[in-house]
Amino acid sequence: MRLYTHSACLQHDPGPGHAESPSRLRAVLQALDHDRFASLDRVEAPRATREQLLRVHTPAHLERIFAGEPADGTAALDEDTAMSPGSLEAALRAAGACVAAVDAVLQGAVARAFCAVRPPGHHATPDRAMGFCLFNNVAVAAAHALAAHGLKRVAIADFDVHHGNGTQDVFAAEPRVLFLSSHQSPLYPDSGYEDEHGAGNIVNGCLSPGADSLEFRELWDGLLLPRLHAFRPQLVLVSAGFDAHRNDPLADLRLGAEDYAWITGRLVELARQHAGGRLVSTLEGGYDLAALAASASAHVAALAE
Ligand SMILES: [Zn+2]
Repeated sequence: MRLYTHSACLQHDPGPGHAESPSRLRAVLQALDHDRFASLDRVEAPRATREQLLRVHTPAHLERIFAGEPADGTAALDEDTAMSPGSLEAALRAAGACVAAVDAVLQGAVARAFCAVRPPGHHATPDRAMGFCLFNNVAVAAAHALAAHGLKRVAIADFDVHHGNGTQDVFAAEPRVLFLSSHQSPLYPDSGYEDEHGAGNIVNGCLSPGADSLEFRELWDGLLLPRLHAFRPQLVLVSAGFDAHRNDPLADLRLGAEDYAWITGRLVELARQHAGGRLVSTLEGGYDLAALAASASAHVAALAE
């Protein structure tokens, strides 16, 4: 089990009072700096290359992000997404971590990896930064698995409380990728309805505000995991957002850290059954620092089992 991260991911700062603060990653890394995680193989994330990013994003989007960094302060990309000095490097390392993790598991260096990175990625569309996301890290990883490793079936499981609209947009016409998402609805970004199927490769599971552990587990066991099993993925990617936790300030679900251990265990088991155990997870949301630290620890502990 490998942990990819980079200190550059702490430099991206969307501004005072912003929910997606550097403290989030500090909280996760501090939680993983514990005896029980002593055996994690810690690796510094490389930068994603332009070629890797262009599999998912338009040249215009790359130019905007490469040229978007202000000399100081912040530069807004939309009402809740901004760049600061250091944001480009952070975004390149975040996407690069996911690419390197895919290479490592597909080359057999390690079975599973967690990318403790920010900015998050799953809202970034081919042509647009949004929802705190600059590059779509998990989508860049999936595209890399297809293009560089020739995989035919890559699954992305997204349990962030928000719909991964960007990931869905990237792969809606790409049947080699199955995208499954559980999320609160209605909620930002107002997409991910159950009638959105893409090319038959998109499965959205909606949870009402107030939904708890039982409803979350029923959704995965009843709808999402059976679809994932039927797909027989060669690689499992995970958009691991922890903002469905009951203490999270940005949403209204009522999960606890034990639910993240549960879904992670299910995904590890599925990866063992179909994908030779190969699973790469990357950090998305999670905005209550204590809940995030506890949930990410539970996730990584279950990945390491
Ligand atoms: Zn989220």
